[in-house]
Amino acid sequence: MSSFQVPVELTNADESLTYDAIVVGCGVIGPCVATGLARKGKKVLIVERDWAMPDRIVGELMQPGGVRALKSLGMVQSINDIEAIPVTGYTVFYNGEKVAIPYPYRADAGPVEKIGDLVRGGNDKVSDDETIKVKDFEDSDRERGVGFVHGKFLQNLRTIVAQEPNITRLQGNVIEISKNKHNEVVGAKVDINGRGKVEFRAHITFICDGIFSRFRKELSPDHVPKVGSSFVGMSLYNAKMPSQNHGHVILGTEHLPILVYQISPEETRILCAYNSPKLPSSIKDWMIKDVQPFIPESLRPSFDNAIAEGKFKSMPNSYLSGRQNDVLGMCVIGDALNMRHPLTGGGMTVGLNDVVLLMKKIGDLDFSDREVVLDELLDYHYERKSYDSVINVLSIALYSLFAADNDNLRALQKGCFKYFKRGGDCVRLPVSFLSGVMPRPFLLTKVFFSVALYAVYVNFEKRGALGFPVALLEGIAILVTAARVFTPYLYAEMIG
Ligand SMILES: Cc1cc2nc3c(=O)[nH]c(=O)nc-3n(C[C@H](O)[C@H](O)[C@H](O)COP(=O)(O)OP(=O)(O)OC[C@H]3O[C@@H](n4cnc5c(N)ncnc54)[C@H](O)[C@@H]3O)c2cc1C
Repeated sequence: MSSFQVPVELTNADESLTYDAIVVGCGVIGPCVATGLARKGKKVLIVERDWAMPDRIVGELMQPGGVRALKSLGMVQSINDIEAIPVTGYTVFYNGEKVAIPYPYRADAGPVEKIGDLVRGGNDKVSDDETIKVKDFEDSDRERGVGFVHGKFLQNLRTIVAQEPNITRLQGNVIEISKNKHNEVVGAKVDINGRGKVEFRAHITFICDGIFSRFRKELSPDHVPKVGSSFVGMSLYNAKMPSQNHGHVILGTEHLPILVYQISPEETRILCAYNSPKLPSSIKDWMIKDVQPFIPESLRPSFDNAIAEGKFKSMPNSYLSGRQNDVLGMCVIGDALNMRHPLTGGGMTVGLNDVVLLMKKIGDLDFSDREVVLDELLDYHYERKSYDSVINVLSIALYSLFAADNDNLRALQKGCFKYFKRGGDCVRLPVSFLSGVMPRPFLLTKVFFSVALYAVYVNFEKRGALGFPVALLEGIAILVTAARVFTPYLYAEMIG
């Protein structure tokens, strides 16, 4: 817990009421669920264990699909007044060569859907501030993403929550999900400083307790994430970015992926992949040996300063396929439900689109009609698949390619970069999937295997006429590898 002074209105929630909804967690997704429901006229209790501004290296680059979802929810001004940096696309480096990948055209993504009761008084548009300009953000012909300091963004979301008259905020640690004798969820038990353990009741309880969720297991004991790698992060100050307003992905045959994006006018986040959940004994030595040589020249001074300062933060990279919400009186959402590799910065986009769909499915229902709400939640699981599977599968497939540890994966990595270099649809489609504006899993499959075939072709070119028989065998191995990194995840996402 922080040294934040807890105001009395954060501890005096009324336990004699039955709320329409309890929301557990006020990170990225909790405030959006709470605000959406409150604007639909529901009485909501939101419980957060610490309302002070968090300091984390997660959720700092929002893809255009996430920005669009915030617009649909009437909450996009949460990216205002935090010195957020507009993002117009990516620059991908591969062994020193680079290619620019601009975000898709707005016309291709179609208009943003406005959810009734949630969007009002222009809250679906950003306003002008020091770093965001309405003209650029709303009227440009291409989609925009945004980079920001995560804690500042969260505090803006929490301010929106505080302004909703139908929401009661509570600071406390949820310690138990309460059930009746039929094993149906009826509320949550909260440990409140100075008040002890208090039970609150609601028609439905939303579990938004994030990556290290304690309550996702209420869906099923085997709803457990897999952790295969980590990101080690540092803050670079006054870094000279290779491309302004772009996210950077630095790839190469000799190292693991490195991500670099600006999160404020002074601060740039660098995240360096490490292929194990257990970190090296000396992070500094590892950074100097395995990361520093591959940092583009313009970033080196700020990178070297950050190394000298030695302030490293790390996070495990988890994968957890979504699961049907089939428990009466409960809905698990956000990272508690579903996680993917953070390489493609898609977590907030999936979670926010989940909230948009949720509002459409259950926002207008009477929550005391718990069976009807459950019926809609059962359907919701299938309807979310089109967008979540694209972002989830892409993140895992790209991480496998970009962290290549065998020759077939290295061939796919090279083929992927050369594919991007062809431009046109070879850039337009992949970036549309990545940015969360093209929820079409079967088109993703087609594009992924086009990349694999292109990698085979690039390998044929490299081998030349004399190497044809070898290239043929290698081509088969490359295609088998591509199928191995892609299909099990697609299957898990689509069938699970
Ligand atoms: C290294 C890394 C980098 C990432 N980068 C990006 C990125 O650039 N872009 C992107 O879109 N996504 C990114 N993500 C994913 C993104 O951070 C998550 O998808 C997002 O934060 C999920 O939001 P959430 O609300 O589900 O969980 P969280 O944001 O984690 O919020 C959970 C909240 O619940 C509270 N809580 C937990 N337990 C309790 C309890 N028992 N009682 C009360 N309160 C509780 C916590 O204090 C917290 O406030 C990244 C993830 C990782 C690991």
